Amino acid sequence: MASAPLPYIGRRVLEGIATTSAGPMSEHLVILGGNTAGLAAALSARRRRPAQDLRVLVLEAGQDISYGACGMPYNLADPQRQPNDLLVRGMDHFRQLGIEVALGHRVLEVDPLARRLRLRRDGQDITLPWDRLVVATGAAPLPMSVPGLPAERHFTFRSLQDLRRLKEAIHGFQRVAVVGGGAVGLELCDALRSLDLQVLLVEAQSLPLPGFPHALRERAVDTLRLHGVELHLDSRLTQATWQGSRLGIELQGPARGQHGSVACEALVNATGQIPATDFLPANPLAKDAHGALPVDRSMATAWPGIWAAGDCVVREHAVPALPGETARLWNPQAREARRGGRVAGWNAAFGTGDDTTLPLSPGTLALKLFDLEVARCGRLGLDGVEAPLLPEPVSTVRGLLGQPLPAPPRMAQALQANVKGQTRGHGMPQADDLEVWLEADGQGLLRGGALCSTGPGAALRVNVLAALLQAQGRVEDLLELDLVYSPPFGPIEDPLLKAASRLRTLLKK
Ligand SMILES: Cc1cc2nc3c(=O)[nH]c(=O)nc-3n(C[C@H](O)[C@H](O)[C@H](O)COP(=O)(O)OP(=O)(O)OC[C@H]3O[C@@H](n4cnc5c(N)ncnc54)[C@H](O)[C@@H]3O)c2cc1C
Repeated sequence: MASAPLPYIGRRVLEGIATTSAGPMSEHLVILGGNTAGLAAALSARRRRPAQDLRVLVLEAGQDISYGACGMPYNLADPQRQPNDLLVRGMDHFRQLGIEVALGHRVLEVDPLARRLRLRRDGQDITLPWDRLVVATGAAPLPMSVPGLPAERHFTFRSLQDLRRLKEAIHGFQRVAVVGGGAVGLELCDALRSLDLQVLLVEAQSLPLPGFPHALRERAVDTLRLHGVELHLDSRLTQATWQGSRLGIELQGPARGQHGSVACEALVNATGQIPATDFLPANPLAKDAHGALPVDRSMATAWPGIWAAGDCVVREHAVPALPGETARLWNPQAREARRGGRVAGWNAAFGTGDDTTLPLSPGTLALKLFDLEVARCGRLGLDGVEAPLLPEPVSTVRGLLGQPLPAPPRMAQALQANVKGQTRGHGMPQADDLEVWLEADGQGLLRGGALCSTGPGAALRVNVLAALLQAQGRVEDLLELDLVYSPPFGPIEDPLLKAASRLRTLLKK
C-alpha cells in the first residue's frame, strides 16, 4: 500500500457529511459495511462511548444503508410496494447519534498491521488511518459464469439495488429461470409465480432445500409442482444462447452427455454467496480459504484491533456429540448479524475485546413456500452422517465452498423421531398437517429438529426448539414444557411434544 501522508479522517473522506464533535485526542473506530451488522456495531459502540471520546465512522460502498434484505422476496411479489419501503432508518438517525456514515465509499485494501485502509470514492483513492476496525461487509452473490448470457438478462438478489433492478425489469418478462434451490431460490419462485410469471427452477441436486429431511424436501418439490414451477432438478447450467430477444439456457443432467436446452427471458442467480472480504490480505489464521473471518465469541478476529460480524464471519462452535471438538459455524442470518454486530461494536469501542460475548446459536431458519411453512434448527443427521454444521441450505454452502460439500464427519449415535399431527385442536376446520423431525444424541441431549406444515404452524413452533437447543436442553425438558393448548392454535398434545415422547421411547430401548 502506498505510504502517502495520511489525511485527517474528517477532512477528506467526510466532505459534505456532518462531522461529530470528536476532539483531537479521540480515537477512530471505522466500521466497514452499513447494513445489519455494521449499523448494529456503530450503535453499540456509540452507546458505550460518547462522541467526544470515540469517533465512529461507517464506510458503505453502496448508496443504501439500513434495509431489511429478508423482506425482498415479499416486496418483489407486491407491485404496490416500493423497494424503498424496506429502508428502516435514514442517515439523520445516525448523525443525530454522532455516527458518521459515508455512502459510496468502497474499501479496496486494509493493512491490518499499519492500521490504515485504502478506499475509493468518486473514482478517487483515499488512504485512511484507524485505531479499531469492525468488518461488517457481509457476503456477495457467488459469481456465476454462464458463457453467452447477456448481462442485462442476468440478475442477482442480495442488495436493495438488486431488488430495484429486478423489480423494474420484471414487467418485460414472462418466463424467468431461478438458479439454486436453497431458501432464497424458493422464496424467489414463490414471489415470481405470484406475479403470474412462468418460473423454471434449476437445481444441481436431486431435491431442493438441502440440509432439510428428505421427506420434507420431497414435499417442497410437490408444492413447487402444484404451483406451476417447472423443475429442472439434477441439472447444471452450462451456457446460454442469445438470439434476437430469445434466451436459451443449456442444462446438463447427472449422466454424462445428458444435455437439454430450455427457453427463458431472464435468469436470477440464487446459487449462493461468498464472504465479501477480498480487501483483507491472505492470512491462514485470520481469513479462511473461502474468505470468511474466523472470530471468537467476542467477535475479535485474529488481527489485533479488528473485530468482525455478520455474513463475513465464521464462529468456532462446539460439536455437541463430540466433546472437546469444535467446528466452524457459518450462519448467514439477520439475527446473527445484528447480535454479532452489537457485540463487535461494544468490544471494539473499549478496545480489549473480550468483555462481552455472543452465545453460540443453534442456527434457526424458516421459510414460506406458497402454502407450505418449513423450519429447522440445530443439527440433523441425514442417512447416518452428520448434516452440515452450516444451518444455511447447502446450495448456499456449496456456494461458499465453490464446490460440492466434502463428506461430512460420521455422526455419533443419534436418534430421530418423526411424527405427523395437526396445527390446531381436534375438529377445528382450518387445521393443517404438521410434521416434525426431532433428533437427540444417545444420552437424550437435543441436537436439532425440523418442521413442515401445510399452512401456518411450523415456523413459530421452531422457536421452542431454538430456545431449548441454545440452553442445551434434553428430550425430558421438552416433554415438561407447558405449551399452550387452545384449539385455534394447537392440539392438546402438540406434535412437538409427541415427537419428544417418541424420542424418549426410542431412548429407553
Ligand atoms: C433475499 C434474502 C432473504 C433473506 N431472508 C432472511 C430471513 O428470512 N431471515 C434471516 O435471518 N436472514 C435472511 N437473509 C440474510 C440476511 O439478510 C443477512 O444475513 C444479513 O443482511 C447480513 O447482514 P450483514 O450486515 O452481514 O451484511 P449486509 O446486510 O449484506 O451488509 C453488508 C454491507 O457492506 C457493504 N460492503 C460490502 N463490501 C464493501 C466494501 N468493500 N467497502 C464498503 N462497504 C462494503 C455492502 O454494500 C452492504 O451494504 C436474507 C437475505 C436475502 C438476500
